[in-house]
Amino acid sequence: MASVEQILKERLGGVEDRLRDACRRAGRPRDEVTLVAVTKTTSAAVAGLLPSLGVRDLGESRPQELWRKAAAVAGDVRWHLVGHLQRNKIERTLPLVHLLHSVDSLRLLRALEETTNRPAGEGRSTLPVLLEINASREAAKHGFAPEDLPGLLPELAGLRRVQVCGLMTMAAYEQDPERCRPTFAALRGLRDRFRGRLPAPHRLDELSMGMTNDFDIALEEGATLVRIGTALFEGLPGDGP
Ligand SMILES: *Cc1c(COP(=O)(O)O)cnc(C)c1O
Repeated sequence: MASVEQILKERLGGVEDRLRDACRRAGRPRDEVTLVAVTKTTSAAVAGLLPSLGVRDLGESRPQELWRKAAAVAGDVRWHLVGHLQRNKIERTLPLVHLLHSVDSLRLLRALEETTNRPAGEGRSTLPVLLEINASREAAKHGFAPEDLPGLLPELAGLRRVQVCGLMTMAAYEQDPERCRPTFAALRGLRDRFRGRLPAPHRLDELSMGMTNDFDIALEEGATLVRIGTALFEGLPGDGP
């Protein structure tokens, strides 16, 4: 029987093939795109195999799970929080994250700015974030509506610690991923429209979009970060009961 490490290595190869094919179709260099391995369904032990397989960007959707895995996984890892951050979990989460993908309200944005502004030791000097946009307009989803963005610009421009680096979205699940394309194209259109309208250190460059089912399409539409869980970890051991 193949070891978990062998299985993971093979699956990474398959994902890498899909990444390269989609980049080739879109005429984009592969190194423009970061693969974020979303480890939420698997164990810290499995997540811990990733750095030695060349994957340094790891993502979690729940803050508590990110705290736990960040403590357990050794090596040179950059943690991404891709799910909702409650304000009472900000303090503990901020020192651990490389990029927060899921800023979904003005209240959260203000609380992040306030926390990072505290004296050294408690906060951090800058916090790179993405704004989560509900581009598919599903009622159950977190995120800003696309039409909220123009009204947010003055507030975003005033942030000193929180650095807005781009936009994130989750497409609705579709049997045929081709049907996700309009959602991804809408996010890219939004980024392109507002890109030059925020002062430094903000820059609206990054597009975090694409998951197991639809990342090929997201890449064709300009994704710079893809968030992949199932294609890597389905059926591998978890830490749960
Ligand atoms: C779980 C999750 C992913 C990974 O999704 P898969 O379909 O398992 O690849 C990506 N983004 C977010 C926000 C998630 O919660």
